[in-house]
Amino acid sequence: MKAVRFYKAGMPLRVEEVDVPRIGVNEVLVKVKAAGICHTDLHFLDGVIAPWKGTLPLTLGHEIAGEVSDTGRGVRRFRKGDRVVVYNGVPCGKCRFCKDGKENLCMDLDQIGFTLDGGYAEFVKTRADTLVKLPNKVSFESGAVLTCGAGATYHALLDIADLKQGEYLMINGFGGLGAVALQIARSMGAKVIAVDVADEKLVEAERLGAVATINAAESNVGQKVKEMTDGFGANVVLELVGREKTMQSALDSLGKTGRMVIVGYTKDQLKATPLHMVTNEWKILASVAYTKKDLEAVVGLAERGKLSPLVSMKVGLEQIEETLQGLREGKILGRAIAQPV
Ligand SMILES: [Zn+2]
Ligand SMILES: [Zn+2]
Repeated sequence: MKAVRFYKAGMPLRVEEVDVPRIGVNEVLVKVKAAGICHTDLHFLDGVIAPWKGTLPLTLGHEIAGEVSDTGRGVRRFRKGDRVVVYNGVPCGKCRFCKDGKENLCMDLDQIGFTLDGGYAEFVKTRADTLVKLPNKVSFESGAVLTCGAGATYHALLDIADLKQGEYLMINGFGGLGAVALQIARSMGAKVIAVDVADEKLVEAERLGAVATINAAESNVGQKVKEMTDGFGANVVLELVGREKTMQSALDSLGKTGRMVIVGYTKDQLKATPLHMVTNEWKILASVAYTKKDLEAVVGLAERGKLSPLVSMKVGLEQIEETLQGLREGKILGRAIAQPV
């Protein structure tokens, strides 16, 4: 089968012929129908993160929806032809975080597309307990984006920032995750202010129901957000960019008791003044990945029509590298999807 292989940082991805994975007793072979092309892959290419225990080369791709193609002897819950999405964490199930339902923080975590071969391929194998059934109503394309994209956003907003009905949520950086965050926030009755530097992204935010949008290249974001919220500021800021400048405008926009939750990151430093943190009782938080429960929740939202991720582009395996470069330059509106065959 064809697979997109990562060798090392700074080296282009290679499309190669590899063997179809062999499954074990409790594993499932999934025929990949759609794989989300995620910004995180750029972190590999740029050397910001490295596969920390996997061997290279590695097939990337961690946002996977597909069809069960084969099951191991011990697998009961799934059969050939089932539509599924893949929870890309393969947790140990034994450590204190796994036992506490926080498998995203597992002490011995494997991750498909990070330490194990991923979904930029015709087939991927995974443990059966990482699969969530995908309702017929939800397309494979949406399903793929529901994994890391929506799961991580849901985790950040609900589990970490504790966003509540009626609160103002500022979304800093309105790409694929931003669009999903907006829909999740609206489904629970929060009011969204979208911030980006690209007008077309802000138009999209308005279409999806943002109460206000701000072009950060043209205005003082903090000041605008305060004006829009009767001087109070945002209750929650979802930081999806992680540059020094965006994180500064996030803090400038945060109201008293505000929670800033960081999801997007670069190597930039966060500069917060303790005086401001203390006098405002800010909570500065961070959120990594998502749990299987989060994935089940967002699949449920999608089934009820509350969440439909914006899939703007479909490409073959050969175009993943250039699509990632487009993502780097901020040229992709919503999410791009790879379709292996
Ligand atoms: Zn991702
Ligand atoms: Zn664990």
